[in-house]
Amino acid sequence: RQAQYSALRDLACVTKDGQPIDLMINAGLAIDLPHIDDTGSSGIGLFRTELQFMIGQSLPRSSDQLALYRTVLDAAGSKPVTFRTLDIGGDKALPYMETVVEENPALGWRAIRLGLDRPGLLRSQIRALLRAGGGRSLRIMFPMISEVAEFDAAKAIVERELTYLRQHGHTLPERVDVGTMVEVPALLYQLDELLKKVDFISVGSNDLFQFLYAVDRGNSKVSDRFDTLSTPILRALRHIVRKAKAANRSVSLCGEMASQPLSALALIAIGYRALSVSAVSHGPIKAMILEVDAAKAEAAILPLLDAPAGSVSIRHKLAEFAEAH
Ligand code: PEP
Ligand code: MG
Repeated sequence: RQAQYSALRDLACVTKDGQPIDLMINAGLAIDLPHIDDTGSSGIGLFRTELQFMIGQSLPRSSDQLALYRTVLDAAGSKPVTFRTLDIGGDKALPYMETVVEENPALGWRAIRLGLDRPGLLRSQIRALLRAGGGRSLRIMFPMISEVAEFDAAKAIVERELTYLRQHGHTLPERVDVGTMVEVPALLYQLDELLKKVDFISVGSNDLFQFLYAVDRGNSKVSDRFDTLSTPILRALRHIVRKAKAANRSVSLCGEMASQPLSALALIAIGYRALSVSAVSHGPIKAMILEVDAAKAEAAILPLLDAPAGSVSIRHKLAEFAEAH
């Protein structure tokens, strides 16, 4: 199998009917970097910066952060990397930081919430990212944004740090794209406003589904109580991709869903053209993409989203489509 997938490495990632798919990988540590090239991916769609913070015994110094981000950008070369700012707190606790006991950590003081309330950490991380991106392109993404005002506040930190670095004679990035994860359902009803401000969005389906279905993703008693290919989920995902396209903003999906071939097929059928997957899934997903006719998949699947929920198993129809093609 592995040899089969390696043979696909240098093929253009396009569907049978010629639709290019931007297939990227998720990463978080230096050890992941060889996969950028050995998979033939088009870049890193999600770099989880919190991993460096979670594996250490103490807060990484800003020089350590800078060194990692430089290493990542060097390894990626001309391929884009989307760095997500710290997604810590809640269930991703840092051993060396004050812990707040919360009854609902997934809904708690985490990610950008913590970042905006205690901006020292976020500011120094953003400074390290901007310094690492000096002279090249940089993409920064914020986790768990639930209101446009939070994005504004986070982006203001980027602007402020850019001014600081300029004043201190640092080489600035040639370009900085700033975007957000879409993983809090409230954001689905603010996309018109949000999309005017962001350069890109990426759907965090792991958290989005946990919140849509009110199902704790870390609790095995409930975590598989819903179907990823159910009508409500696919309608929500279609809503996001349609809004992004209408606003002319790039949209990707970087949650686990994209790493499952049948789910990735569903995403292509409803209009997604950029996916970020785990490195091990890159081969299987690319193999699927090369075999699929996106227009046919769309014609077969998209109408099912408008059928009454529960009247048809979209998963079953997708499996039939995959079988027949
Ligand atoms: C997600 O929520 O889908 C996501 C990609 O982020 P994480 O899994 O790190 O929360
Ligand atoms: Mg998430």
